[in-house]
Amino acid sequence: MFAEDEARLLLDEARDASQLESLVARRVAGEPLEYVLGWAEFAGLRLAVAPGVFVPRRRTELLLRLALDAISRPSLLELCCGVAPVATAVKARRPEASVIASDLDPAAVAVARANLEPLDGSVVEGDLFASLPATARFDVIAANAPYVPSAELVNMPREAREFEHPLALDGGDDGLALHRRIAAEAARWLAPGGTVLVETSRRQAPLDREIFEARGWRVELVPDDELDATAVRAVLPA
Ligand code: GLN
Repeated sequence: MFAEDEARLLLDEARDASQLESLVARRVAGEPLEYVLGWAEFAGLRLAVAPGVFVPRRRTELLLRLALDAISRPSLLELCCGVAPVATAVKARRPEASVIASDLDPAAVAVARANLEPLDGSVVEGDLFASLPATARFDVIAANAPYVPSAELVNMPREAREFEHPLALDGGDDGLALHRRIAAEAARWLAPGGTVLVETSRRQAPLDREIFEARGWRVELVPDDELDATAVRAVLPA
């Protein structure tokens, strides 16, 4: 993002000079541009965002691409959904898909609903799978769960450190606490032949492979240099 682009977006968003001044002041104080605008672009969509809720990153478009590849008529669950970028973009492209998103944080659930409900997707509030209907089964389970090791939160850009909820970033000692839980719990929610997709970093990917393989998953690590993204693609052996 460059200064000229930001200026243009703020100019477009402001109704008048005094609102422009207040938007610029918030941005100068370090607030993420997306919070100031009230939306973030993801995969060509404008998604609502809300203060404290993880701002969707472009790299998560890798999960979207893999989710769309995984199956032609997906029922999809997005875990730790934040504003629900993957679920919303899947539903926008495949209106016939059945799509649910879940998050622990009520602020995330509210903004995920604003994005997903107009497209007829649904959002539940709860810890990972806790609030899903017991009979639900999914062809694709996608998660951009927090995966930053706790001790490395201090190295994140100021916008993330000061404005995003630590709950959305902190993945515990090695960053993979949630990934261990997903590896342990996802099988029961997956339809036969289904796929689990988890965003990770290049550095953490080998440990993710061990974590998922130890639970019986067949794992492929998918890097995308252009998006600076890495995903774990896990399936259960037939
Ligand atoms: N490194 C990631 C980012 O800021 C962390 C994302 C996450 O924890 N889900 O884009």
